[in-house]
Amino acid sequence: MKCLVTGGAGFIGSFLCDRLLETGHEVVCIDNLVTGHKKNIAHLLSQPKFEFIEHDVTLPLPEAISASVIFHFASPASPPKYQKYAVETLLVNSIGTYYLLEKARVWQAKFIFASTSEVYGDPREHPQKETYWGHVNPNGPRSCYDEAKRVGESFVATYIRKYQLDGRIIRIFNTFGPRMDIDDGRVVTNFIKQILSRTPLTIQGDGSQTRSFCYISDLIEGIMSVFTTPAARGEVINLGNPEEKTILELLNIIKKVSHYWGETDWEAKVGLEEGLTKTLEYFKK
Ligand code: UDP
Repeated sequence: MKCLVTGGAGFIGSFLCDRLLETGHEVVCIDNLVTGHKKNIAHLLSQPKFEFIEHDVTLPLPEAISASVIFHFASPASPPKYQKYAVETLLVNSIGTYYLLEKARVWQAKFIFASTSEVYGDPREHPQKETYWGHVNPNGPRSCYDEAKRVGESFVATYIRKYQLDGRIIRIFNTFGPRMDIDDGRVVTNFIKQILSRTPLTIQGDGSQTRSFCYISDLIEGIMSVFTTPAARGEVINLGNPEEKTILELLNIIKKVSHYWGETDWEAKVGLEEGLTKTLEYFKK
């Protein structure tokens, strides 16, 4: 099947391109590289079934393109980036979604829209189910992202109702993994950056606040299942890891896997077995 992936050079989009190619599909990847990076797709450029087009989807698509499915994943997605590109974020999720939906209608293509848990805003329900409508400030600093994704969902829902489009909306919760932008300002990348540069880890508040963290490969399998499951047609589906961790727990796990003990280069090298053997030898003498 010919798949159009917008935002295909981004963190999630590029892994989606990988997976679609692995399963035998053809991929046309479109990205304007505002927050995506060509290095995320460098390994795909020589593949015959892969094509990269540098294009801004807030402008009409080049006429020559067509596809059987559109994955609309183009959008700045982290707070520092969607603040920096606030107008672009509003446009790509509104007018960008509109242009792509028009193509999907003409091509009779399936349409999968990458929405976000941020549509719930500052939620009053935990955990958030798909049926919850959220608690969103329409003009606050996050609204350029939250409201943009909400209007994107509204466009998709309207095309489903009005044109019987095969639309599917996924709401993506916190996801992490390789190819994330190290400067995206999220907690996982902040901690990793701080560990690698041996600077103190920044805990905001008391660290008891909880989040769920989904590894990229799980998210991609979720997206593929929304893509291929007939019952997902017309549905809104939350995708994330249901297990909540406190920020302190996250910190301790990252410290453990990175053998991080503080701000020096020191790290423990002697395992318990080796240490006990040496100690036993001493006492034997
Ligand atoms: N956080 C933190 N240290 C950091 C960055 C974030 O303690 O360096 C906390 C932040 O206050 C929040 C949680 O981690 O409670 C997740 O923040 P993030 O910005 O990653 O994502 P979001 O709030 O959008 O889930």
